Amino acid sequence: MLKAIQVLGCSSGFISQRLKKPHSGNGFSLISSKTSYNSTPKSLSFRVIRMFSTPSQSNSDAPSSSSSSVAVHLAGNVRKIKFCQWCGGPAKHEIPDGEEKIRAICTLCGKIAYQNPKMVVGCLIEHDRKILLCKRNIEPSFGLWTLPAGYLEIGESAAEGAIRETWEEAGAEVEVICPFAQLDIPLIGQTYVIFLAKLKKPQFSPGPESSECCLFELDDIPFDSLAFSSIFVTLNLYIEDVKSGKVKFHYGTINKRLGTGPSDIRAFTLDYHLQV
Ligand SMILES: [Zn+2]
Repeated sequence: MLKAIQVLGCSSGFISQRLKKPHSGNGFSLISSKTSYNSTPKSLSFRVIRMFSTPSQSNSDAPSSSSSSVAVHLAGNVRKIKFCQWCGGPAKHEIPDGEEKIRAICTLCGKIAYQNPKMVVGCLIEHDRKILLCKRNIEPSFGLWTLPAGYLEIGESAAEGAIRETWEEAGAEVEVICPFAQLDIPLIGQTYVIFLAKLKKPQFSPGPESSECCLFELDDIPFDSLAFSSIFVTLNLYIEDVKSGKVKFHYGTINKRLGTGPSDIRAFTLDYHLQV
């Protein structure tokens, strides 16, 4: 049985990072985009963001746990495959003939294990001019806020996956309205596809991966306690769109800085930002 909506009391007066002026005290700087927009300088300022923070060991921006065996290789992180997934034989790591990248090649059957980016799908749920966020009950980013989102499963469309993840994490039945953002994170091999959605019923409750689900007024979104860069970008784009009076579709590349972890959610630049 779903709990009735608990709206009031969820917002706790976090101050949006977007509205803070850059200063050297905490080591970050906000740089305006070259793109021109009909919005205030304050809301523009997040578009290209360079954050200099303490490096950490993980590069994961994943909504759920990822392998601890990580190797840095050229464009970013790839999982170090030790054994063949087909025959169990030990893998060697070489550049196959005719290719340019190091691959895991089985020393017994010769098959090559190609690793490709994963798609993360989720929903940006509007309700009464508020946005539904979930507080993570799992690592990474335990205790931080996120949009309901997770890895797309084989056999489902991106929209179906986003609806499923929303049900699993927020106990909310939603209807997808339109795609809102595709955000690629090349370094960690992830692409986020976020849909704008609305509640079919005014009900939600946290699933096992969430400790809390709340509707936030846009001014109360906890930018200081967000789980991932992708969520930071998505929410900023949305707020900017709402303020401009037109919600658009956004494409962009989040280029995370090498050596940064999930807690360094501002350690990136947003490049190739296109919007229609
Ligand atoms: Zn093999």
